[in-house]
Amino acid sequence: MNPLICPKCGGNLEKIIYQDIEVDRCCQCQGIWFDSLEAEQLKSIKGSESIDSGNFQGENAAQSLQESVNCPRCQEKMLKMLDFDKYPIWYETCLKCHGLWFDAGEFQQFKHNFQNKGLLDRAIKILRFNKKMT
Ligand SMILES: [Zn+2]
Ligand SMILES: [Zn+2]
Repeated sequence: MNPLICPKCGGNLEKIIYQDIEVDRCCQCQGIWFDSLEAEQLKSIKGSESIDSGNFQGENAAQSLQESVNCPRCQEKMLKMLDFDKYPIWYETCLKCHGLWFDAGEFQQFKHNFQNKGLLDRAIKILRFNKKMT
């Protein structure tokens, strides 16, 4: 397979493997490409935010909405997504291959957002479990 090209800066994406899950990270801007479900798998693995070495720069939402970003796999124009919880983060998703693009630092934020939800889910499960027991 040909190496993927960063949709943001045109740099090469290099493969990094974390717990048997392979992701592609740009060696220039440190953005990370996740194939379908890789981000879902990785965000539930403890410590996986270490693959994201970038510092979150913050994004000018108005500006980032205007730029068009093409999927590094299928060259489709990707859709901007907003995950707003603990931190507002914009990321791109490809509707065709369901890959996700995170700018440097965004995966860490994405994980933080998820962790809050994860805790809530777990609390609900424990509550349900306790109900069953009594
Ligand atoms: Zn890049
Ligand atoms: Zn795609």
